[in-house]
Amino acid sequence: MHPVVPNPETLNAQTCWSCVKEIDKAAHFCPHCAKLQPPADSDYFSFFALQRRLNIDANALEKEFYKLSRKLHPDVYARASSEEQQWSTQKSSLLNDAYRTLRDPIARTEYLLELEGVKLEEQSRAATDEARKQGKDKQQVVPPDLLEEVFDLNMQLDEMRMGKKMGERDEQIAKDLQSAKIRFERMLASSNDDLRKLWNEWDQVIASGADIADPQRIAVRDEIVALLNRRSYVRNLVRDVNEVLATEK
Ligand SMILES: [Zn+2]
Repeated sequence: MHPVVPNPETLNAQTCWSCVKEIDKAAHFCPHCAKLQPPADSDYFSFFALQRRLNIDANALEKEFYKLSRKLHPDVYARASSEEQQWSTQKSSLLNDAYRTLRDPIARTEYLLELEGVKLEEQSRAATDEARKQGKDKQQVVPPDLLEEVFDLNMQLDEMRMGKKMGERDEQIAKDLQSAKIRFERMLASSNDDLRKLWNEWDQVIASGADIADPQRIAVRDEIVALLNRRSYVRNLVRDVNEVLATEK
């Protein structure tokens, strides 16, 4: 017979439901009786027992993912209690989401910023598409150092679009746009380096034990937000240029 499984809501999160010994809050399995534990109220980092750092050992993460996939797999619990079956399903799905998010450098960074209280919604692809559908320009703050260039670029884009409607193509503007595009793509590439530098700064702040309200922690966080905004802005520009340059048929 299976032991009676208590409702996880009423559980002390640090007590194993089965052997009632004290265990780590984030533990997936009891170190004493090896029983699967109910899903804890955890974020993707703590699911993998990781600190909120941005440099992640991708190989170690992958190994841990496969290890946990095997151990949490619902097949393993086919003959266990219905609660344990449910937990294994919930945890397996959480595991997949956590892994998909953490292994991707940008998704990981955005996720961490969300945990730190930043809303990046407006930068998302979905928000851009939605604004376009409504015929509006998405409200995006132009990075100050790009103001002038973006102003010129938008004029050229408009001219190209207009020419397209008339069935004309201004080869000089097309050439200008092409070289603007190359410049923006270089910017994107160098923003990756800048992002990595900020990751290191962030990890140092975390290693120093700074809490979530620490001014330095907030300062680095906001620098990362500005960089991601700029990155997404430039990426949208590249997309606009590509759209306009694409020749029909
Ligand atoms: Zn136990």
